[in-house]
Amino acid sequence: MAFLDKLGETISTKGKDVAKRAKELAEVASLNAKINTQEEIIRKAYIEIGQKYYEKNKLDTTNEFGSEFEIISESMDEITKIKKEIQIIKNYKVCSKCGAEAPAEALYCSVCGAQYQIVEGNAKESDETNDNIYEEESIHSETKDKID
Ligand SMILES: [Zn+2]
Repeated sequence: MAFLDKLGETISTKGKDVAKRAKELAEVASLNAKINTQEEIIRKAYIEIGQKYYEKNKLDTTNEFGSEFEIISESMDEITKIKKEIQIIKNYKVCSKCGAEAPAEALYCSVCGAQYQIVEGNAKESDETNDNIYEEESIHSETKDKID
């Protein structure tokens, strides 16, 4: 039967087409993955250029990217603030010399050996301890309470 022969032919042709298309799709997917890899490399290089440019020019107030510089430095300030909040919650401090973390009561940095200026036990006499940040905050909330 010519019709059935033709149908069988069409099905096998379609089967070949499907296999061919699947192969094509797999090849394209693999090539797209290669493009993504290259784009990621470019993206990292752009970021590096931007960081280097920022570091080099951040003090130039007339720079054409001044508003972007401002966004970056505001976010950096915000991160510093948030990190301090984390320090308070986790009760640790950061060495001003090497950046290592240490328990709030530590007297010396265990990494670089720097002596911490603030002795936790004398917190009430000192001006820069975490305890004083707590005090400052409680003062703020008291003031707020009074306003409310
Ligand atoms: Zn240190």
